[in-house]
Amino acid sequence: AQTLRLILGDQLNPRHSWFAQRDPGVVHVLMEVRQETDYVLHHAQKILAIFVAMRDFARQLREAGHRVRYIALDDPSNRQSIPDNLAALIRHYGASRLEWQAPDEWRLDTQLRDWAAAQPFETCVVDSEHFLAPRDAVALHFRGRKQWLMEHFYRAMRQRHRVLLTSTGEPEGGQWNFDAENRKPWPGTPAPPPDTRPSHDHRALWQMIETAGVGSFGAPHADCFRWPLNRDEALAGLEHFIAEALPHFGEFEDAMSSHSPRLFHSQLSFALNVKMLHPREVIDAAEAAYRAGHAPLAAAEGFVRQILGWREYVRGFYWAHMPGYEAQNALGHQTPLPDWFWTGRTRMRCLQRAIGQSLDDAWAHHIQRLMVIGNFALLAGLDPATLHRWYLGIYIDAFEWVELPNTVGMSQFADGGRLATKPYVSSAAYIDRMSDYCKGCHYDRKAKIGERACPFNALYWDFFARHEATLGHNPRLGMVYRQLRKMAEPQLDALQARASSLKRGLDTI
Ligand code: FAD
Ligand code: SF4
Repeated sequence: AQTLRLILGDQLNPRHSWFAQRDPGVVHVLMEVRQETDYVLHHAQKILAIFVAMRDFARQLREAGHRVRYIALDDPSNRQSIPDNLAALIRHYGASRLEWQAPDEWRLDTQLRDWAAAQPFETCVVDSEHFLAPRDAVALHFRGRKQWLMEHFYRAMRQRHRVLLTSTGEPEGGQWNFDAENRKPWPGTPAPPPDTRPSHDHRALWQMIETAGVGSFGAPHADCFRWPLNRDEALAGLEHFIAEALPHFGEFEDAMSSHSPRLFHSQLSFALNVKMLHPREVIDAAEAAYRAGHAPLAAAEGFVRQILGWREYVRGFYWAHMPGYEAQNALGHQTPLPDWFWTGRTRMRCLQRAIGQSLDDAWAHHIQRLMVIGNFALLAGLDPATLHRWYLGIYIDAFEWVELPNTVGMSQFADGGRLATKPYVSSAAYIDRMSDYCKGCHYDRKAKIGERACPFNALYWDFFARHEATLGHNPRLGMVYRQLRKMAEPQLDALQARASSLKRGLDTI
């Protein structure tokens, strides 16, 4: 062979132009390596899902007539590092050229480029043909601005890609954003669609991963495993979502229920992030459902905004701020994560549910990640870099380019407000309004002080009081600070005393 082509575990796009032609001079290389299992402690299902999907992808490439070299984790020739394996394969095949698709993570992008620069053979980096905007689009869009508002970028994307526009180029329905109609609590009806995802049995592979000594956490569910593991399964998931859940997506997008963790969310993030699905086909399916009268505009627009807006925006934001963004800590928070982040064992029912579900399924929806787990972490002053590694490990869809801006920027305000206009925090009232978690909780959602008072309440006021110098002038927090400044001193003292006692005993909260 003259050419080796590296395919990373999140580059499983069978429609990439690489595969348009068969060439016996090209060997496609996929590898399971400790470098990738160990850069952070991962959820068991995440490791398993990526390996199974890679194996299936290799099988499909072979069936389509391509040459493939697959290095399994327990292959005796496996050197467990991407560059070391590549160097050995180049020698083995006598290859004179190495090609790879641009990685989405700064870590891998830099590693491959630095390594290849010192090699004698020819190298070529090609586009992954996945995203709708180039890496530097967000930086260019916001050049010279202090605040990078997603909504601004999203409108430009709607126009550029002609999504949900009228024939004259106006936004469909006369508005760009219909969130005022969305975001309701879920009253128990309509019933969420049944989970039709196929279940897979991968006990043998899981055994091999464990025997190799790979560390992990969370439930492997190797005997019943429900993530789409190839493009066909991902397409079936997309079709099911559009038919059954999209019509109610917007309305209940922010709702949380202990009876139905998924509600009307798509659970397509894994399939999208490993590139089994292209964002454009997902967006087109949602737009077509609206045009066919199957889904209301508020639902279709809300869903499209997540993919055409947020997903593309955070990716560009990531490239504009790396390296270094992972170490941002504008509020100086340093508290370690309580142990129950790895067990779900806390008396706070909202966190018990959101973290317990994340440990069971490697997935939680946006509001659980943002307004339960992230909200608590920010109010309690947990260290954002440790929290980032927790999010990066636990979720099936977690890859640094999307996880990092969401965690450090949106959820923890650790970049001082470059991504979010204000910290996303709330007291118990918001969680109670949007979920059924507070009923049956050990804590009293209405009480602010005392042993049984909901921890969110005292931590909330303590957070704003502690950070008045940094946040007190933020125009979006005017109401909060007016209330705080009106508060009688003994009341604030009592709240801060309660917050301090909570923070001293986070492990047993
Ligand atoms: P849906 O609610 O059905 O949304 C559809 C799609 O929109 C998602 O599949 C996703 O591709 C995209 N999307 C939605 N919100 C966002 C967002 N804020 N940023 C980027 N894309 C978005 N998403 C990840 O894909 N990987 C992560 O590691 C990740 N970490 C997060 C960490 C925190 C602290 C927060 C607050 C959010 C994070 N998100 C992450 C965004 C979002 O929570 C998930 O994309 C979503 O929950 C995935 O479930 P779904 O496919 O059912 O999404
Ligand atoms: Fe969470 Fe407080 Fe509600 Fe309990 S009372 S579920 S801790 S918000």
